[in-house]
Amino acid sequence: MILEHELFPHEFKFSSKKPIVNLQTPKRIVMLMQQHTGALAQPTVKAGDTVIKGQVIGDSPGYVFAPIHSSISGKVKSISPWLHPILGREIESIIIEADGSADEIRLKPLNYPITPDEIRQRARDAGLVGQGGAAFPTHVKLNPTKPIEYAIINGAECEPYLTVDHRQMLENPKKLISGLRLIMSAVGAKKGLIAIEDNKKDAITLLKVLVREFPDIRVFVLPSKYPQGAEKVMIKTIIGKEVPRGGLPQDVGVVVINVSTAISLAEAVFEGKILTEKVITISGDAISEPANVKVHLGTIVKDVIENTVEFANGYSRFIMGGPMTGFSQATLDVPIIKGTSGLLFLRKTRIQETAECIRCGRCIQNCPLRLMPAYITSSTKLGEYSRAEFYGASDCFECGRCSYVCPANIPLVHYVKVAKTELFKMKKTGSKS
Ligand code: SF4
Ligand code: SF4
Repeated sequence: MILEHELFPHEFKFSSKKPIVNLQTPKRIVMLMQQHTGALAQPTVKAGDTVIKGQVIGDSPGYVFAPIHSSISGKVKSISPWLHPILGREIESIIIEADGSADEIRLKPLNYPITPDEIRQRARDAGLVGQGGAAFPTHVKLNPTKPIEYAIINGAECEPYLTVDHRQMLENPKKLISGLRLIMSAVGAKKGLIAIEDNKKDAITLLKVLVREFPDIRVFVLPSKYPQGAEKVMIKTIIGKEVPRGGLPQDVGVVVINVSTAISLAEAVFEGKILTEKVITISGDAISEPANVKVHLGTIVKDVIENTVEFANGYSRFIMGGPMTGFSQATLDVPIIKGTSGLLFLRKTRIQETAECIRCGRCIQNCPLRLMPAYITSSTKLGEYSRAEFYGASDCFECGRCSYVCPANIPLVHYVKVAKTELFKMKKTGSKS
């Protein structure tokens, strides 16, 4: 049962009026071999090789996988471990130094009629994954095993600070609609929706005008509340159906795709463009000029902010992603990956001393999925992961609401994530807790 509680973390959408700016080609990139949900990529190049922008440098025969391409032209300096900003450990990475060449590999542009298989193949060849954070390979999402009625573009962008989707909808609306039409065709959906929170009135007005010529597409205005952008919450709001526990949106006839992913799909199909760059928001109360920038994948954060960010008095916390679902980082020496949506630099934080649980029940009342974060946490602390599963650990989509409302400042999502990781390991090994 998805609850309708209302939570409005302060929005802080400081960069919503800042047009997307293209950043310069970096001198060096670090391409992590894991940038998506699914199989790890194996390097297809070696130290000393010359590569061209758009060239495949990491591949795998796995189905749930998206190839890794070089985002610059240059020479492979080394293949060595580098810190992953989400996994929090070093993984195999290809380090490339730019040679100044403007060469770029593109795929052959396609024209209608285009078959669903061609769309899926193009999504895979272009290395597309969900760019909102989960980084699920797009070609897999476009191959549902159940009948689909609705293809929904997720333009909610309910996370505070982030404005990538908002700017993309304003600056690339026609590509977004083209991408949605491709998605509808690939999954066989008769209806297309662009779901936008009501705090983005300019994007709503623009897209409502542009979809007039497509009778099967409409703009759906969502109330601005957190976590409206979580797939399961959004589906309940739009079609009134709940995705079953442990299920997927396709179980209720829906496929949901992120705004930037749909735009990248249109670019891959009609322009042959490979995913080598992405739009991110740089924001937070520690910087003077928030911005939306298009950055080469693999650029080290330190290099991204070198010429773009000014700190008034330093910062106390750096998060990759939004403040509710993002990942705090201990270093700027981490690369931009396909799922990176923002770089957030915060001066003041909500971090306070953690206290004991006072059993107020606010975390449970505020969980949109009616899970039991307090009980998942106590079970996880005891190493009783099967009990954590009983209280719903595996269903959690890590929206962060429970942690946000907890008066004892208990990092509940952290414990849910630990439980999920341990449950995944247990499933793999067949062990029990
Ligand atoms: S993060 Fe917390 S509130 Fe959000 S779904 Fe998970 S348990 Fe529920
Ligand atoms: S909100 Fe925090 S203090 Fe209240 S029950 Fe949940 S974990 Fe305990």
